[in-house]
Amino acid sequence: MLIRKPIFPGVIELNFQAGEVLGCNVYLVYDQDEWILIDIGYEETVDDFVEIIRQLDFPLSRCKTLVATHADVDHIQGLAKAKQLLKTTVTGHPKAAKPLREGDTLITLAEIEAQNLKLAMPPVEIEHEVNDGDIIKIGNIELEVWHTPGHTDSQLAFRHGDVLLSGDNIYRDGCIGAIDAHHGSDIKAFVKSLERIRDSDVKWLAPSHGPIFRNDKEFLNRTIDRVRGYLKMADFGTLADSWPLMDQWDDEVAEGKLPEGLVPPTA
Ligand SMILES: [Zn+2]
Repeated sequence: MLIRKPIFPGVIELNFQAGEVLGCNVYLVYDQDEWILIDIGYEETVDDFVEIIRQLDFPLSRCKTLVATHADVDHIQGLAKAKQLLKTTVTGHPKAAKPLREGDTLITLAEIEAQNLKLAMPPVEIEHEVNDGDIIKIGNIELEVWHTPGHTDSQLAFRHGDVLLSGDNIYRDGCIGAIDAHHGSDIKAFVKSLERIRDSDVKWLAPSHGPIFRNDKEFLNRTIDRVRGYLKMADFGTLADSWPLMDQWDDEVAEGKLPEGLVPPTA
């Protein structure tokens, strides 16, 4: 038997519980015997996580559902296996349903050919689609569902009192979940999701990767300003809104303007 190490009332993070980082953060939310998992991580760590849960003395038959924060392989590859082991259901955003059902390796970023990255993405059905404002009940605990698109279009966060299980929205170092057009990133939506987190009275952010940290306005603002800047940067390709340099180039071409000090040869 293991002694439970909850971080908040009714919330255990399984890597922290294990004293060892096995993968993405896996939150076990419980009230008495009933429990859920928020994310499961890679398939190869499912057995480890289930063994920890067993040793924490949670009845495996009382797993109400497995929740996918979003449809990225590092969070959900193990869902099919865990679902079978625990004989339970899967919960996620409607936009995660199709890539999970189809085991889509492109949208889940399981396969990045140019990087020689090729991971399996076992298909899994989502039985319970949830959207913003829905409540997930675990015993007497009510988790409020937030839809926070930006990193992906299916990204969810879950409010439990003072705490937001905040997914891949922001991490303790101010980094955010990867921006990649393939899995539905949207920079404007990202800014809105971050503003929503900043403007809420949530005290603690419990992200899907790395340590838990305080919801601090100044800190959020620094990230929001940076992300807003991405909208006008060529670095972000088709996800940027505009590229101001091209407007300047239009004008300069029309004026026949060259850099100061550059004297073109006469024809
Ligand atoms: Zn992700």
